[in-house]
Amino acid sequence: MPAIMEQPATPSPAFSSLALDPQILRAVEEAGYTEPTPIQIQAIPQVLSGRDLMAMAQTGTGKTAAFTLPLLQRLLPHANTSASPARHPIRALILAPTRELAIQVGESVEEYAKHVPLQSTVVFGGVDIRTQKPALLKGVEILVATPGRLLDHVESRNVMLNQVQVLILDEADRMLDMGFMPDLKRILTLLPKQRQTLLFSATFSDEIRKLARDFLSNPATVEVARRNAAADTVRQAVVAVSEDDKFDALCGLIRSRDAKQVLVFTRTKLTAARLARRLQRSGIPSSDIHGDRSQQERLKALDAFKDGEIIALVATDVAARGLDIDQLPLVINYELPPNPEDYIHRIGRTGRAGASGEAISLVDRDEERLLKDVEKLLKRDLPRDPAPRVAPSTPRPNKISAPTDDWFSRPYEPTSAVAATKQAEPVPAREAEPKKQVAALLRGGKL
Ligand code: AMP
Repeated sequence: MPAIMEQPATPSPAFSSLALDPQILRAVEEAGYTEPTPIQIQAIPQVLSGRDLMAMAQTGTGKTAAFTLPLLQRLLPHANTSASPARHPIRALILAPTRELAIQVGESVEEYAKHVPLQSTVVFGGVDIRTQKPALLKGVEILVATPGRLLDHVESRNVMLNQVQVLILDEADRMLDMGFMPDLKRILTLLPKQRQTLLFSATFSDEIRKLARDFLSNPATVEVARRNAAADTVRQAVVAVSEDDKFDALCGLIRSRDAKQVLVFTRTKLTAARLARRLQRSGIPSSDIHGDRSQQERLKALDAFKDGEIIALVATDVAARGLDIDQLPLVINYELPPNPEDYIHRIGRTGRAGASGEAISLVDRDEERLLKDVEKLLKRDLPRDPAPRVAPSTPRPNKISAPTDDWFSRPYEPTSAVAATKQAEPVPAREAEPKKQVAALLRGGKL
């Protein structure tokens, strides 16, 4: 299976061979990067040449540096320390689908540009527009924005886009999924025709190809991850568990691994909110991040997570898009996503840039179909792990009963076999499992 961070057979060129200014390379070195990732090796020379680019790369591949480093290099002739806003027109526009991604891209731009006099700022919706105005009026060469908020600023005459030389569409597939096409079209009419356009997308769907035909001119194409690729450094597994036992299994996984940071995925906002509260009550510091929380609450939760104040961050798919948390060791799917491609996005939050990680899915019987879809997309069956043998957080003696169905204790069967036995006849209730659970409770001193 191809890995996102797959290395080419020949030795990677060093960053120093990529024709980047020493001050940009200094920031790269300070970021701790020793060698460029495959997307960086392929994309940086193309961007430096001034060509349009269509790049297929998911979050986690190092794509932000792949477009930001050569972008800084191209803008260097305009770098200056003048205090006059007129000397700092917007020369590069980076569009991102979500606030979280915009913020993270903005942080990366700042980090890579810290030794060159090029200014940048980020604008996104959900916060008071007036707070973003001063930075724009001071002048920035690089603007990172979500499409809707950018148009608000255009209407308020806080930005002029007629000197943009480089347009970057980050996670373009997400932008289309989220219905940003009309906004993108409007933004395009405000930009000079003569410009460089870079499109980054996790997939090359027909819609993306059409977008590229409309917006790009004779683009170079680079591709480092197929849509069904998942980082080899991530250990993926499934724990089959009944819906009633999911919560205890989740606590067990977190405790058995002594996890300090775990990202937990749910399908709905309501489940995310409830689960975070329940984890919190069980002594696992937690917070939730989803569309019903204000921008401020989301940022606060994310900061608390990054700072280690909370252990579990419970998120929905939409809210988690673009989240970049270095070295995230554990991702747990409390519920599988309805769309198998979201599974790839979810597990892409761990095992980044070569770091190892674990992605465990708690799957109940009703999710068997979704699991099969995921395995089909991955082109392999995921190993089944036993449920963690850790005492539940809250003793529930009355609930220690045999599951009504034996799917949970079936020996692991490949997907095709699972499909064939999906409608298996009733199986005898298990004998051994309740005893094991009682033993676990006894060990944990709960009975
Ligand atoms: P991205 O795909 O841009 O979201 O990047 C994913 C992660 O990889 C970020 O945490 C970056 O800091 C990190 N990263 C980017 N380039 C490199 C590199 N050449 N070596 C190691 N880590 C990198």
